[in-house]
Amino acid sequence: MSQTFRGHCHCKAVEWQVELPSDSQSHILCHCEACKLQSGGEFTLNQLAPKDAFKLTKGDLKVYTYKGDSGNPVDCYFCANCTSSPYHHQHALGDKIVVRTMLLHGSKDWGTPALEIFGKDKLNWQPQTAKDILPAGP
Ligand SMILES: [Zn+2]
Ligand SMILES: [Zn+2]
Repeated sequence: MSQTFRGHCHCKAVEWQVELPSDSQSHILCHCEACKLQSGGEFTLNQLAPKDAFKLTKGDLKVYTYKGDSGNPVDCYFCANCTSSPYHHQHALGDKIVVRTMLLHGSKDWGTPALEIFGKDKLNWQPQTAKDILPAGP
């Protein structure tokens, strides 16, 4: 069973939908430095999805590529107008993408994150909320 989630960027020029398995409606909390720099916050909330589960339904995205922790390229897709970023593609993950779950409608009701990653970059005043925390990526 899967469910379709819709999302939009801050300025609403770009809209998308993503198909997620019903049992994966939980966040993966990422503490990495790239997430801090891109979001301006202390962490981001994400989920993995097959690349073809994601569809743009309005507007277009720009791409910015940087070198990830693994040394492999990471493509970061974002709205050229307001910079909201619906997903990343880490080349190391093959045909999977990293969807920003906080930008999906209804995700505020998903509850405590299922997993935390990049614990090595966690701010020391930030409490651990998931049961498990990995020092780096999965
Ligand atoms: Zn936008
Ligand atoms: Zn991160």
